[in-house]
Amino acid sequence: MYEALYPQLTGTHFTVLSDHAPLQYWKTQRDLSKRQIRWLDFLSNFDFDIKYILRIINRAVDAPSCYPHAQVELNALAITTHELSDEVIEEIRKSYPDDSFFKPIIKDPEHYQHFSIREGLIYLCDSRLYVANSKSTREMLLRQHHDNENHFGNVKVYGSLSSKYFWPDLSKDIRKYITSCMQCRRNKPSNQSPAGLLHPLPIPEERFSDIVMDFVSSLPKSNGFDSILVIMDRLTNYVLIELTYKTATALDMVHLVYRTWCWRFGLP
Ligand SMILES: [Zn+2]
Repeated sequence: MYEALYPQLTGTHFTVLSDHAPLQYWKTQRDLSKRQIRWLDFLSNFDFDIKYILRIINRAVDAPSCYPHAQVELNALAITTHELSDEVIEEIRKSYPDDSFFKPIIKDPEHYQHFSIREGLIYLCDSRLYVANSKSTREMLLRQHHDNENHFGNVKVYGSLSSKYFWPDLSKDIRKYITSCMQCRRNKPSNQSPAGLLHPLPIPEERFSDIVMDFVSSLPKSNGFDSILVIMDRLTNYVLIELTYKTATALDMVHLVYRTWCWRFGLP
C-alpha cells in the first residue's frame, strides 16, 4: 500500500491510524525482529506518526487485517468516521424501548431537555451516547476500553469510556469487569514484602551438643499422659520421645529433660 502511494506520501507528514495498539510504540521499540528491521528500513522513507484507534472504529480493515501477512499494510491508512458498527448501533437503538431508564425518554423526549435524540440514538447534551441495557454491547465496550488498552485500571477506563458513552452504574460495571479480568488477576503484583534470604542454623561440631525439642499435645489419653516431648540431636538426628502432660510447667520440663536426656548425654 505504501509502495502504491509512494508519490503521494513522499515529502508529506501523515498520520497512520491503526487498531493494533503496540504499533504506536514501534518506532521507539528497542528490540526489533529481523522482519521489523526490514520494515523500519523501508518506512524510514516516510514521515509519519502512528496513532492508535479502537478496533470498533477501524471497521474498514476488520476482515482483511485478520490475514497476518497483510496486517502491517492494511491496518494503516484506514480512516473511517464510524464510531460503532451498524450492527451495534442497531442493537443499541432497538434496546432503548425495553430499558426502564431510557424508555420514558424515547416516549416523551420533550420532557427531557438534557437529552437529544438523533437517528433514534439518545445523547446527553455533551454528545455522550447513552448505551441501553444490552449486556453484549456494554461488555464489548468494556473489552475495547480495558483489554485492548493495556488493561488499564478503573480510573483510566472510566475516563476513556465516560468521555464517549454513558449508562447507569457505568463505574460499577467497570469495577466489576476489571475485578473479574483474568489477565489482570494473573499480573497483579503481590502485596507481601519480598521473602528474605534463608539463614540455616550452623551444623553442630559435636554429637549431643545441640538439640531441638518439640511438643505434640492434645493426644488421646494413655496411662494419664496426653502429650509427648520429642528431643532430637541436631548432628546425629538421634531422637528421644518422652511422655508428658499438656499442663506441664516449665519446671516440669526442666526435670523431664534433665532426667531423660542430660543424665545420658550430658548438658547440650
Ligand atoms: Zn484486565
